[in-house]
Amino acid sequence: MQYRSTRGGQLVGLEQAIMSGTAPDGGLYVPVGLPQLSLAAFAGATQLAEVAARLLQPFVAGSTLESGVAQLCAEAFDFPVPVRPLEEGLSVLELFHGPTAAFKDVGARFLAAAMARIAGADTARHEPVTILVATSGDTGGAVAAAFHRRPGFRVVVLFPEGRVSPRQQHQLTCWGDNVLSLAVRGEFDDCQRLVKQAFADADLRTRHHLCSANSINVGRLLPQAAYYAQASLAYFRQHGRPASFIVPTGNLGNAFACVWARRIGLPIERILLATNANTTVTDFLATGQWLPRPTVPTLASAMDVGNPSNMERLRDLCGTVAELREEVAAVSVTDAEIRAAIRDEFARHAIPWCPHTATALHAYRQLPASECRGRHWIAVATAHPAKFDTIVEPLLGQSVVPPPELARLLSLPARYETVAAELPELAARLGGR
Ligand SMILES: *Cc1c(COP(=O)(O)O)cnc(C)c1O
Repeated sequence: MQYRSTRGGQLVGLEQAIMSGTAPDGGLYVPVGLPQLSLAAFAGATQLAEVAARLLQPFVAGSTLESGVAQLCAEAFDFPVPVRPLEEGLSVLELFHGPTAAFKDVGARFLAAAMARIAGADTARHEPVTILVATSGDTGGAVAAAFHRRPGFRVVVLFPEGRVSPRQQHQLTCWGDNVLSLAVRGEFDDCQRLVKQAFADADLRTRHHLCSANSINVGRLLPQAAYYAQASLAYFRQHGRPASFIVPTGNLGNAFACVWARRIGLPIERILLATNANTTVTDFLATGQWLPRPTVPTLASAMDVGNPSNMERLRDLCGTVAELREEVAAVSVTDAEIRAAIRDEFARHAIPWCPHTATALHAYRQLPASECRGRHWIAVATAHPAKFDTIVEPLLGQSVVPPPELARLLSLPARYETVAAELPELAARLGGR
């Protein structure tokens, strides 16, 4: 399989698409064609790693990842993604059982395992690859966890000082070894700008073998289609009809993976996106006007995106707005509705959900009866509620117990350095020769 930029240009192999992140023309890499897989292609595959290997096989064909794809998937997908039935017509796909308790673990673990194989093939390299990642919360922790103690790699995480939740900050700063955590005096946008400046500096880029692990890397996107494949296959095998999904959406990576899964041939009926008060996507579907705007802070902070970059891939796939409307619908959810959903769902089922998952559950509750009749909806749960304890606990009036992996991370000592939002400061921390 070859990959092209959404803006045209030359075809590249999967290795280059993964190692370079974005295309030189500023576009995003997409496969040149989507394979069609029949249900028979998944016969006998039930575990996430097995389903992922069958799904990803055509995407890695012809690359260094092809021969070891089953092993690669077994290594990356070593935690469960259970579907929890809630009530008639509704279940929840829980994507938060990985090392950092958010769905970013799926993409980050696959990316790390893939990069290790790609870079490992280059045995002449003596200096480590530096993964430079700007984070507003969950990405940095997932990427640090995935590359922690991986020979040949180091991770430099940039996060905005004082602007991530205490538990998120702990997950960004508890690693040590080959992970350097830097609190930037500024906002998330400053962190992103610094990363861009570092990549644009040819000397820094080559000296440190800089690589990006941000969410537009095709190596993070592809593996996310695997859990939609597994969940939709399981539902179809049991009930003989397709399931529909509700996806909490920020940068549209998780949602795009769901659209891919359906295009590849998986039994998925509707796809409904749930955004927070950042309404760029819902407005676009309503008006046909693409108007990115500044980010509005919300309770579902990992979805605070005013200019979702994966829309470029979605438009590339769909062509016109009319076609996009056939593909997905979207609902935006206010902070007041998020709070109410966290409380109401707890009252119904005694299960706490995180603010992101709450947007999906709110989107389900507001569906007209006609959308529910004869249909099964699977809401996607993107993070464990204990990661957002400062929001969830006061609403429920009780504490939310962190899962064992998260509790272990929270018990580790934290270390980080603070830097000004200036490239020379970052360059100094990267080290020199
Ligand atoms: C990143 C994230 C999202 C948004 O996912 P996108 O792929 O950016 O749309 C939703 N929920 C949580 C918990 C996240 O970390």
